[in-house]
Amino acid sequence: MPKNTHYIAIVGSGPSGCFLAEILAIKIPGITIDIYERLPHPFGLAVNGVAPDHLHTRKVTEQFERTLARDNVNLISNIDVGSSISYSELKQRYNQVVFATGASEDLRLGIPGEHLPGIYGSGRFTRWYNSHPESNQLTPLIGQRVGIIGNGNVALDIARVLAKTAAEHQPSALSEPVRTHLAQRNISEIHIFGRRGPVDASFSLPELTELSTLAQAEVQVSPAVLAGIDTQGLPPSQKKMLEQLQRYAQAPKATPAVIKIQFHFYATPVAAVGDQQLEALEIRDTRHGTLHTLPLDTLITAIGYRTPAIAEVPYDTERGRFAHQKGNIEPGVYCLGWCQRGPQGVIPTSRSEAMNLARQLIKEMEKQHVD
Ligand code: NAP
Repeated sequence: MPKNTHYIAIVGSGPSGCFLAEILAIKIPGITIDIYERLPHPFGLAVNGVAPDHLHTRKVTEQFERTLARDNVNLISNIDVGSSISYSELKQRYNQVVFATGASEDLRLGIPGEHLPGIYGSGRFTRWYNSHPESNQLTPLIGQRVGIIGNGNVALDIARVLAKTAAEHQPSALSEPVRTHLAQRNISEIHIFGRRGPVDASFSLPELTELSTLAQAEVQVSPAVLAGIDTQGLPPSQKKMLEQLQRYAQAPKATPAVIKIQFHFYATPVAAVGDQQLEALEIRDTRHGTLHTLPLDTLITAIGYRTPAIAEVPYDTERGRFAHQKGNIEPGVYCLGWCQRGPQGVIPTSRSEAMNLARQLIKEMEKQHVD
């Protein structure tokens, strides 16, 4: 290796990988950064996960384009680390290796009937509407009554994308076939299920409020479920989220909306019911233990993700991510972002984490070159 040259491999070209590459490319003269990407196109979650109508969030890819255009940054696409190139080879070729592969595998509910046609994990479903190459064979069955399990922002994203009219989808990154498929649906009900109460929901205020702006949808929340909640001591963001739910609960229902978006709290899925395909969801009231069944044609589980394992890379099966100590997988090998800490946090979180790892990498590079 020529003196003063440092070779680093980043596996994954999503936000974490691109932010790290940008910082290192600026801070380390003489560095060469190879970014390995399994897909033909870069940017991971920024294009495969971020909702197609959130174009302002997707704008971050413009910054990433500039990173990839740097002389000392190379994007190596269509390379599946673990099969096209092994973990051992990577360690031999590079001074440092960083995994930033995200968490793309849908968690499963583990309930009877989960295999039925009409049921999709949110990762699979959002990859479909984001035209991910591995979902181009999917034509989801989207019926009149759609259920979404999970009280996070992914559930809200999916509800919003499904409830928007074709006109509302005009400014969006949807491909023409997806646009057409969505426009031909005849959705009348979207049910969002949380197994805990409103206080425990992890909705962000902008995403929750955005539902109120939809042209043909009306949000329904039972006032009873919000009654008596003590908001003292809750973080301001949670209080504001509850206030928005309260506004939905109190809003007068004048004319019946084309699409009803109904929140169900304390609703634990127990079984998916159907013969040839999904027909209903059996739900248990988490507080009282009572069971009831709601007819559904489509069910999307937005309950979180795991990081796919890579051959030879130490893996924590229980947590569904790489095995590491504070981001260190082994000497010279690191993990960053969702494959390190699990599927939580927004794109700006990846930027600050990349900054912290860059500091550590730089310290260790200096040490390697002195030794
Ligand atoms: P999340 O916020 O962790 O929500 C996951 C939901 O799934 C929780 O309500 C969880 O309930 C529920 N859940 C998990 N296992 C379940 C089970 N077996 N049965 C029923 N419910 C189950 O995750 P997410 O919505 O996938 O989002 C991932 C991250 O991306 C979050 O940090 C999110 O904020 C971020 N994101 C941000 C945006 C945005 O800013 N626009 C958009 C999308 C995603 P419990 O709480 O009871 O476990």
